[in-house]
Amino acid sequence: MLKGHLHPLTQVERKLVSIFQKLGFEMVEGPDIESEWYNFDALNMPKDHPARDMQDTFVVKGQQNKVLRTQTSAGQVAYMEKHQPPFKIIIPGEVFRRDAADASHSPNFYQIEGLVVDKNVSMADLKGALAQFIKEFFGESTKIRWRPGYFPFVEPGMEVDVSCTICGGKGCQTCKQTGWVELLGAGMVHPNVFKAANYDPEKVSGFAFGVGIDRLTMMKYGISDIRVFYANDLRFLKQF
Ligand SMILES: [Zn+2]
Repeated sequence: MLKGHLHPLTQVERKLVSIFQKLGFEMVEGPDIESEWYNFDALNMPKDHPARDMQDTFVVKGQQNKVLRTQTSAGQVAYMEKHQPPFKIIIPGEVFRRDAADASHSPNFYQIEGLVVDKNVSMADLKGALAQFIKEFFGESTKIRWRPGYFPFVEPGMEVDVSCTICGGKGCQTCKQTGWVELLGAGMVHPNVFKAANYDPEKVSGFAFGVGIDRLTMMKYGISDIRVFYANDLRFLKQF
């Protein structure tokens, strides 16, 4: 008799959660339906902020100011309002964007948000935590590249690339012959986000990061089309 097993995205999500738990992070969850305040305004994206349009958003009909969360970052301020630092949390979950499905886009996908808040948290702490996670997940020999990047809720922000796991950095179709693949966004928590949570940005500091679980799974297993995760094709799912 054929037994069922966990979906590859669930397997990878659980692996990531366990890696972060070993690094001292506590897992918390946020709702799929979120207020515009937590999803945007509290994250330094007031109305008319251009980044709000970049994430085409599903609005919940009949519920004022409610959206399907476009990012697990939406859980940051909701958590901070109820807890005092120091803390290290991860927030895994499904996110939704009004994107047409193609090989690299899906209207729903999965992320893990990380948030660390304490006194005197530095960029070195951020890089140290992410390097530990990346090497644990992809292997010790994985190379990491840190690039400046812009996200409204961090300052400074960075994008983190890793050496392509498909070709080992030599160059292939997946990495567009560059040898590098963009893995995640991160940065130091913006003072306006702390203010939204009624924290004093003079007294606390922190870092945040967001990892795409679908993307990580694609890189780990050499999958080139995100749609296979949502097609319920047993020939694909049985490989995991
Ligand atoms: Zn490659």
